[in-house]
Amino acid sequence: MSDRLTADLAEGIARARDTDYLNMNALLTEEERALLAKVRVFGDRELLPIVNDYWERGEFPHEILPKLAALNIVGDTMSGYGTTPMSAVGQGLVSYELGRLDGSIGTFMGVHVGLAMQSIYQLGSEEQRQRWLPPMAALEKVGAFALTEPDHGSDSVALESTATRDGDTWILNGRKRWPGNATWCDVIVVYARDTADGTVKGFVVEKDDPGYSATKIDGKVSLRMVQNADIVLDEVRVPDDRRLVHCNGFPDVAKVLMGTRNMVAWSSAGHAVAAYEIALTYAQRRIQFGQPIAQRQLIQSQLVQMLADVTAMQLYCIRLGRLLDEGEVTDTMAALAKYYCSVKARDVCRQARDILGGNGITLEFHVMRHLCDMEALVTYEGTAEIQSLIVGREVTGSGAFV
Ligand SMILES: Cc1cc2nc3c(=O)[nH]c(=O)nc-3n(C[C@H](O)[C@H](O)[C@H](O)COP(=O)(O)OP(=O)(O)OC[C@H]3O[C@@H](n4cnc5c(N)ncnc54)[C@H](O)[C@@H]3O)c2cc1C
Repeated sequence: MSDRLTADLAEGIARARDTDYLNMNALLTEEERALLAKVRVFGDRELLPIVNDYWERGEFPHEILPKLAALNIVGDTMSGYGTTPMSAVGQGLVSYELGRLDGSIGTFMGVHVGLAMQSIYQLGSEEQRQRWLPPMAALEKVGAFALTEPDHGSDSVALESTATRDGDTWILNGRKRWPGNATWCDVIVVYARDTADGTVKGFVVEKDDPGYSATKIDGKVSLRMVQNADIVLDEVRVPDDRRLVHCNGFPDVAKVLMGTRNMVAWSSAGHAVAAYEIALTYAQRRIQFGQPIAQRQLIQSQLVQMLADVTAMQLYCIRLGRLLDEGEVTDTMAALAKYYCSVKARDVCRQARDILGGNGITLEFHVMRHLCDMEALVTYEGTAEIQSLIVGREVTGSGAFV
């Protein structure tokens, strides 16, 4: 490929192309459109130029934190406490646009906002919200969410980390695996089982608490900028005012996860639309056998399949977001959307990678990064199989987990 074509392609990829075949845009409010446009401009200017380098080095780009803070996109469905109010669709659009640019940044926000802040917002007292949410909304403090354990992933309901009350404090013991941001964040929401009554409770651990340690999981080939960690809790003492007072069992944790499954569906759609747009741009410019490969029937068939999948994902997401805004989403609806969008998005990224031939496996053309990152999205917040089991139980009336 000539240098001119490479530059032309890079420009085509960088330009937001707005794949929106069934006019999803018409279903958005003015505010939501403005939010989408704001994040898109930010992504193109600030993220796209740096993501491949950080991804390759496996480091988090701390330089973007002040810029992300200035963008005022920490809101989700929370209100007050310095957050930016937005609809569930609005928050979804933020995830969509970040997914379109880079999965690691999208995941960083998903963990910080959707998991850590939402745990405190949904399960904390008013005093606890006032204490942690404003600095987190300003990205002055960053959060992590520690649920998964080395021996309990899909069955995190059976988690074994313990919390033992000792006067006005709790003593936490156990191990956690995978929490994103955990090597460098300020606060970690830890879920542990009360040794007195066996219920799952939530606690806010701070990074310097004696007995807390987090070791980066090296060697990841997905979401390489996200600093996932193995955590050890060795007699970590936290005062009772750091126990999330409205967390009275695992079903409360599950409520937090329902919102983030919505966000994973949107992020997946973002990855897919990026991969589709890159593949289309590439196919129109790549000449083989004397013609652009976009003129070949086999390539067009693949592009149309990808477009059909992307369009279905967009519609899934906007409907799910509206239902969430109306308070009508069930956990099985969120599970179905997460299942469909993550699995389909991985397929779309894989097809895009094929259309790019050898260039498809380079970071320069982005689709391999999207494909690698989608592998994590299919897994986290509950694997595709677990989402199937959740929906399957409802539609058949028979649980098939065990
Ligand atoms: C990049 C990344 C980031 C993450 N971030 C966080 C985080 O911030 N905080 C956090 O707490 N956790 C986090 N996780 C953990 C994530 O939620 C778990 O990896 C996920 O729930 C799956 O658990 P597991 O990896 O232990 O797989 P397992 O549960 O061991 O599953 C292995 C395989 O068995 C299948 N399986 C399991 N049970 C059944 C069954 N009953 N029937 C059929 N198939 C079954 C699964 O679908 C999967 O294919 C993250 C994970 C990754 C990869």
